Amino acid sequence: MSEIKENTEIVELIRKFTLLNAVKHDGKAQSGAVLGKVLAEKPELRTKVQETTLRVNKIVAEINAVSLEEQKRIIKEKWPETLEEEKVEEEKRLPPLPNFKKYSVVVTRFSPNPDCVLHLGSARAIILSHEYARIYKGKFILRFEDTDPKLKRPVLEFYNYIREDLAWLGCKPDEEYIQSDRVPIYYEYAEKLLENGNAYVCTCQPPAFRKSVLAQNPCPCRELKPEEQLERWSYMVAGTYKEGEAVVRVKTDLTHPNPAVRDWPALRVVDVEKFPHPRVGSKYRVWPLYNFACGLDDHLMGITHIIRGKEHLTNMIRQEYMYRHLGWEYPEAIHYGRLKIKGAYLSKSKIVQGIRGGLYDGWDDPRLATFSALRRRGITSEAIKKLIVDVGPKTSDVVLSWENLYAYNRKILDPKVNRYFFVQNPIQLSVKGIPRIFTARIRLHPEYAERGFREYIIKPAGGENTVLFWISETDAEALFVGKVIRLMELFNIKIEKNDKYSAEASFISESYQEARKAEAQLIHWVPVGADIPCGVIMPNATTGDGIAEDACKKLKPNDMVQFERFGFVRIDKVNGKLTAYYAHK
Ligand SMILES: [Zn+2]
Repeated sequence: MSEIKENTEIVELIRKFTLLNAVKHDGKAQSGAVLGKVLAEKPELRTKVQETTLRVNKIVAEINAVSLEEQKRIIKEKWPETLEEEKVEEEKRLPPLPNFKKYSVVVTRFSPNPDCVLHLGSARAIILSHEYARIYKGKFILRFEDTDPKLKRPVLEFYNYIREDLAWLGCKPDEEYIQSDRVPIYYEYAEKLLENGNAYVCTCQPPAFRKSVLAQNPCPCRELKPEEQLERWSYMVAGTYKEGEAVVRVKTDLTHPNPAVRDWPALRVVDVEKFPHPRVGSKYRVWPLYNFACGLDDHLMGITHIIRGKEHLTNMIRQEYMYRHLGWEYPEAIHYGRLKIKGAYLSKSKIVQGIRGGLYDGWDDPRLATFSALRRRGITSEAIKKLIVDVGPKTSDVVLSWENLYAYNRKILDPKVNRYFFVQNPIQLSVKGIPRIFTARIRLHPEYAERGFREYIIKPAGGENTVLFWISETDAEALFVGKVIRLMELFNIKIEKNDKYSAEASFISESYQEARKAEAQLIHWVPVGADIPCGVIMPNATTGDGIAEDACKKLKPNDMVQFERFGFVRIDKVNGKLTAYYAHK
C-alpha cells in the first residue's frame, strides 16, 4: 500500500472514531478515548504513538468545533452502519410478540388495583407492556381495576401515585380507564349472558354450592329459565338480595378438571352502606369480580396482547368460557414466570399494614421496594427498565438480588455524577510539619476534566505548621503508629499517635509515586472548617452521621453524587446541613 493511501485511511479512521465519540459526549470528543480506539484497531500504530497522538488531537479539535447536528449528519452520510450497530447494542431486543402480524395495532395494558402504591413487583408488567407497545408503535393502556370496595378497597390518593410512578418509569399510558366508571357496561353484559342462558344468579349458601360443584353437579339455580334469572338479577341490583345472598355465575364445563374454574362468580352484592366505594360511593350495590370486569375490558378496549404473571393462567381459562359465550376471540396472552427479589418487601398487605402501624415512615421509607422509595434513594428508572428488559418475558422463575439492580444503576450513575469526600463518624487528625501552603485541586470526576474541580487551600498554622482534618472512624481504626498513609490527592503522612478519639501524624512527602512505593493506603479527608454536616439515611432506615466537604454546600435536592469510598447517594435536603439517601456502594 502506498504511504499516501495508508495515511488517508488512518485519517478517515481517526475521523470516524472521533465523530462517534463526539456524538456520545454531547459533541465533544475526548482525545484519549479516540486514541485508544485507533490503537486497538491499528496495533501497528503503537510504534508511532507520538505522531498518532498529534494527529488525533488535531482531528479532535477540528471535529469538536463542529456542531453536534453536523457531526451526526456526517456519520449518517459516511458510516450509516455504525448508527445501526449502536442502536442494537443499546436496545436489547425483546423476543417478538406472538402473532403480532395478525393485528393492525398492538395494544397492551397495565391494570393495577389502586389499593396500594406500586412496587418493584409491578415493574415487569408495566415495563414489558409499555416496551412492546412502543416497539410495535402500538398503544399502552392504563386501567384501574377498582371494583372491590370491600376486600381490596381502592384508596383515592393511590390513583395519582400510580400515574406518577408510570410517568417516572417513562411508561406514560396512551389511554386511561377506571373500572368504577364502567359499571353500567358490566351490567349490560351480565344481562346479556343471563338472557342467553350463559350465566345464572346463584342464591345457594357457599357450602351447598361447593358441594354440588365438587360433585360436578349443577346447583338448583343453574337450571332456572332466563326470565327467572333476570328477575333475580333485578333483585340484586335493587338491593332485595343483601350481601352474601346472591352471586352471578358464568357457566363453564362442570366437569373441568380444576374445580376452581367451574361456574366462576362474576358479580356479587356488596353492602355499600358499610363499604362505600371511594369514588362512586353507594351508587352501585352489585360489583363485578376480577375475572368478569377484566375479561370484558380486555376485549372492549381492544387489547391484543396481555402480558402478565403465570399466576393468571387459571384466570385465562375462566375468562375463555365467557369469551366463547359472547362469540369473542381471546387476546394473545404471555404469562411470565415469577420474579423474586431477595430481601425486598413485595407484599402489598405487609406494606399497608406496616405503614398503618407506624413501622414504616411512609410509602417512600427506604426499607420498602416501592417505586417512591427507590426514587428517593436514587435508583434510576433507567436501571429498573434495563434490568426488566434483560430479564424479558420468559416463563421460568427468576430470582434477583438487590445487587443486580444496583449494578445496573451504578453503570448509569458512575459516569454521570460527581464525586465528593464524605467522612462518616468523623475523627480529628492533626498533621504537623507541613512545609508550605498546599492547594488541593480535585476533579469532580477523574475521567471528565471538563467538569471542573474542587479546591482546598491547606494552610499550616502554629509553631508546628499544623493542619486539622476530618477522617472517618473506620479509617482511623486501621491506623497504627508508624503507618504511612496518603491523604487522597494531597500528600503523604506518617501516623505518630492514635487513640480512639483523635490521631496525630506528620508530613513526609508529596508525590503519589512515593505513596505507591511505600504501599500507603489512600484515605479521603475533609479539612476542618471547610465542611458541612451530613446525615445519610441508609437502606435499613438508620442514619449515618458524618461530615461532607465544603463543595457539597452547592448541592441541591435531587442531585445524585458519589461519596468516595462510601457510595452513591441522593441529596434529599439542604438547610445548613445535608440530608442524603444512600443508594448503594
Ligand atoms: Zn345456586
